[in-house]
Amino acid sequence: MKQQQLFEPEPLPWEQADRDDLLCAQVVFNRPLETPFDYLIPDSMRGALQVGQRVKVPFGRGDHLIVGYCVGVDRPRHSTGLKSVHALVDARPILTPQMLELTRWIAGRYLCSWGQVLDTVVPAGVKNRAGTREVLLLSIDPEEIAKHPEAKLPPKQVAVLKVLEAAGQPLPLERVAREAGCGTAPITALRRKRFIKAIAERTQPGEADAGDVKATADLILNSDQQRVLTRVLSALREQRHQTFLLHGVTGSGKTEVYIRAIREVVGYGRQAIVLVPEISLTPQTIRRFRSRFDSVAVLHSHLSDADRHRHWQQIASGQVQVVVGARSAVFAPTPHLGLIVIDEEHENSFKQDSIPRYHAREVAQHRAELESVPLILGSATPTLESWRRAQLGQDELLQMPRRVEGLPMPPVIVVDIRNDPIRSSGGAIGRALRTAMINALDDDGQVILFLNLRGYSPVLWCRACGAAVKCPHCDISLTWHKERQIALCHSCDFSMVPPRDCPACGKAGVQYIGVGTQRLEQEVRAKFPKYPCVRMDSDSMRKPGSHDRALESFRHGEMKILLGTQMISKGLDFPNVTLVGVIDADTMLHQPDLRAAERTFQLIAQVAGRTGRSRKGGRVLVQTACPAEPSILFASRHDYVGFAQAEIEHRRLRAAPPFEHLARVIIRGPDEALVKAQAQTMVEACLAATTKLSVPVRVLGPAPAPVARLKGSFRYHFQLSAVEVASIQQLWREVAPTFKPPAHVEFAVDMDPLNLR
Ligand code: ADP
Ligand code: ZN
Repeated sequence: MKQQQLFEPEPLPWEQADRDDLLCAQVVFNRPLETPFDYLIPDSMRGALQVGQRVKVPFGRGDHLIVGYCVGVDRPRHSTGLKSVHALVDARPILTPQMLELTRWIAGRYLCSWGQVLDTVVPAGVKNRAGTREVLLLSIDPEEIAKHPEAKLPPKQVAVLKVLEAAGQPLPLERVAREAGCGTAPITALRRKRFIKAIAERTQPGEADAGDVKATADLILNSDQQRVLTRVLSALREQRHQTFLLHGVTGSGKTEVYIRAIREVVGYGRQAIVLVPEISLTPQTIRRFRSRFDSVAVLHSHLSDADRHRHWQQIASGQVQVVVGARSAVFAPTPHLGLIVIDEEHENSFKQDSIPRYHAREVAQHRAELESVPLILGSATPTLESWRRAQLGQDELLQMPRRVEGLPMPPVIVVDIRNDPIRSSGGAIGRALRTAMINALDDDGQVILFLNLRGYSPVLWCRACGAAVKCPHCDISLTWHKERQIALCHSCDFSMVPPRDCPACGKAGVQYIGVGTQRLEQEVRAKFPKYPCVRMDSDSMRKPGSHDRALESFRHGEMKILLGTQMISKGLDFPNVTLVGVIDADTMLHQPDLRAAERTFQLIAQVAGRTGRSRKGGRVLVQTACPAEPSILFASRHDYVGFAQAEIEHRRLRAAPPFEHLARVIIRGPDEALVKAQAQTMVEACLAATTKLSVPVRVLGPAPAPVARLKGSFRYHFQLSAVEVASIQQLWREVAPTFKPPAHVEFAVDMDPLNLR
């Protein structure tokens, strides 16, 4: 190969690489390594190996073969000691050049390695090619049947033959059984008689029961919707990137606007991605999109590897018009992306809390810029990050301040429960809420009760010494789960039979205090025995499908009272709900978290969105021990803008996000002294580097983390704070390689953290 033949013309420059020079694959791995590694491409793989494919290469001292991602093909940066690519894993690239660029950006933005990002972006089902499965295709054998004219077949077998005859082509076994209304036994019998033949075929199964969805027509948009749509359409038609912040109150018809914008995109033969919180991926939402578009792929977290693989391929082939999914759908391999929508952009679930700790909004923003398409961020309660971008004119603010069809916002009544006798005697439903419930139910309305604590009692408490019973592995109080008769840690799932005597002082008499959803359910059943109620929290909704069943029973009015955790605060649209009660608005307020007020506001605004969605009207009762708290008052007046202005000033004074970016570094390990010392060393290194590089980064800490112990590890943390992400990146690149924690001490960095525990 290498030897040039005489008289052969000189190779052109771009042929040169193919012929003479060494070519290297640049490979990254799912490991925290900064730069790609070079591997020689053997002649046998030239032409076959492309950027975006996975390869098997020798790695490390033992030259173990591991899988990596080929992210570039180039001349080697140095030519000695190079190892060769051992084998190709994929026959074709599984990542497009755009996806490679996007993932590289994520690695830089979230301070992790490119390979770690790639490994998350490609679903497991795609990596292991899950889901090509064997199907049995059945067909009639007329010759065999003709040989036995005397045969008298039982009715089910006759039915099977009729189905196959009518089809005139081989059919999958499941379908035959379904259409003939039988099990597999008659089919097996017919196969034994050789009246039907079966051939096995490896295929990807078809669409997993999309259900019968009726196509529905578009609604006539109101003037607010029309105004907003016009702005979005102008960006779409000019094929330019623009981020729109669609601030629309609950029930203002945001989804209808998304649908219209998507219709335009589909008209161009392009695809749209709609990100929704996992919890909103209800049949209701899905039906809404399926009834308006021919081809919708739904990506939720319960998909099997095989289904994910199938969706990935259908999306990549351009067959899918709309991808609706949770966070990771932002990586959907649409060949001609036209639009990205993020609904409920304020939701925390858009941030991933394992490596890579990306936020889907930031990734969507970058992807939309790269592919020159618009991005719509929709919310009734936008994050202050998004609000500020709009205020600065970086994004365009679009507002829909009214509900559709002139429906008013529900009145929100703040109830001070500090002196309520029912509350002091341990009840959850105070006097005012109880009266309101009676009225609503007597009027044939339905009621939603919201409480953010699951279990029966959130605290086990010793009367004698005042200590709470904590998890032996975590710095967290155990919760009493009466149904299972255990005290459970909500962080690590540790459980025990609750102690009768206090583990701290040994005295008898541990008390269960506070109210969780289980205890609330018991109270509701006792106080409203005539009205069936259903509880929704992660304990009651373990079984697949139970979520949908509970919601359906409520929708159809079999259940009159729905109570639960966050699970019920979002997206639900039940016209007959005339009362929403917030059992305790203060649970979020007292968290040691810079976003405590923002979350409290969001919570009340979102639950308020669950009522007043028809002419029947509705109202909201918010029980609190802090009735003067601004976030609660602003929410009770439906005044997002007032809240945002006040809160943003507060953040400005504290130089907190969105004015500065934070990187939170957590150090953890089983030995507290080692963890503390490591945190101290790292902080000193950061301080020294800020001076050396003179980057404007503040180093805050170290200190024990708010949850100082978790799953058996002690935890310390510190934070890097800066106006520009780039300053933190620069500092981190300088110091991170120097961190060599002792054995059993680990550290992790979370850029723009949402979870500050
Ligand atoms: P949001 O997403 O802002 O909470 P939705 O898009 O869910 O609001 O709309 C709330 C309800 O109003 C839905 O039942 C929807 O079908 C209905 N709706 C939306 N737009 C219109 C319209 N222009 N005319 C009549 N009903 C509408
Ligand atoms: Zn625990």
